[in-house]
Amino acid sequence: MSSVVAVIRASALQQNLATVRRCAPGCAVMAVIKANAYGHGLVAVARILNGVDALAVARMREAIELREGGVDSIVVCLSGFTDVDELKLAREYRVQLVIHARHQIDLLEQAAPGVALPAWLKIDSGMGRLGISSDEGRAAFQRLSACPAVSPGIGLMTHLACADDLGSDATGKQIDILGRAAGDWEGDVSVANSAGIMGWPDSIRPSASLSYTGRSWVRPGLMLYGVSPFADRSASELGLRPAMSLQAPVISVRRLKAGQTVGYGATWRADRDSLIAVLAAGYGDGMPWRAAAGSAVVINGSSAPIVGRVSMDLLTADVTDLEDVRPGDTAVLWGDDIPVEAVAECAGTIPYELLTSVTSRVKRDYVD
Ligand SMILES: *Cc1c(COP(=O)(O)O)cnc(C)c1O
Repeated sequence: MSSVVAVIRASALQQNLATVRRCAPGCAVMAVIKANAYGHGLVAVARILNGVDALAVARMREAIELREGGVDSIVVCLSGFTDVDELKLAREYRVQLVIHARHQIDLLEQAAPGVALPAWLKIDSGMGRLGISSDEGRAAFQRLSACPAVSPGIGLMTHLACADDLGSDATGKQIDILGRAAGDWEGDVSVANSAGIMGWPDSIRPSASLSYTGRSWVRPGLMLYGVSPFADRSASELGLRPAMSLQAPVISVRRLKAGQTVGYGATWRADRDSLIAVLAAGYGDGMPWRAAAGSAVVINGSSAPIVGRVSMDLLTADVTDLEDVRPGDTAVLWGDDIPVEAVAECAGTIPYELLTSVTSRVKRDYVD
């Protein structure tokens, strides 16, 4: 190995999917694989998760990539479509639509005769981003139901803004608002993301405020990849297994004298004679520049603090206290021994951003 590799474990993805099913028994699962399956590889993850009820992406391009990769499952585009051309693509590639704005309904009403597509009506119950406002929900539903470009059996969807905060009352309020928007619903309903699935049973099957005759759908993203959606509960506590292990080779081990500095800006100075491992990994691979302060890598099972700045292609770790580190050894940047959540915290960001920032020069290796 001479560069960074993201080892992706199929069994972890499948095990995390089993955890989704355990948390949401009887529910349909829409596996969220947008943004290159959170960096894990779009088509490969779609194949590994075959058997889910649907796959969800954020962009029409991602949906097309799935179809061109031979994926035949139901595909939902969470951002829907924006113009006539995208609607044409959705029809050509059989992509289910999320209808979140009135201009989309206008376009559907004006659409040329052709394939009718299944659609989800998305209500803004408090995220304040995409969605039809709750008082316009009924009218939007009626227009969509009358529209030949939309197949019968429209689903109802909303997205939670604060489900990762288990002390917040926002999630209950959002579910109430959805119920008020929809009244009695003769179709499927989908509310819960990962944090909803693991923290808010009412979001899995929101039947307290809403009566509906269809299926309940959950939309897990992060938890499928084995990462905790909660700041104060680890993935292992939640029974999740990280699917990605990001690994880099040690390409040099240097002896530095006390007083010598390491890296750009000479921000780290050895306070003793030190042994420094140089890894072929940097922000050009997706290791965050800001991870330098306080973060560590794991080499041969032992933790070694990152010292100096992370550069584009290299980073340096203090291995003075480790035994026998040599060029060719493998360092883990995140994975089992060092959760991506911890690296994200050191870098002042969220694990979502780190996973989706693994760059294209990193090879994905799929193992069982
Ligand atoms: C990304 C996304 C999800 C998945 O969220 P996680 O927090 O990763 O589980 C679900 N629904 C919608 C609409 C999304 O955009």
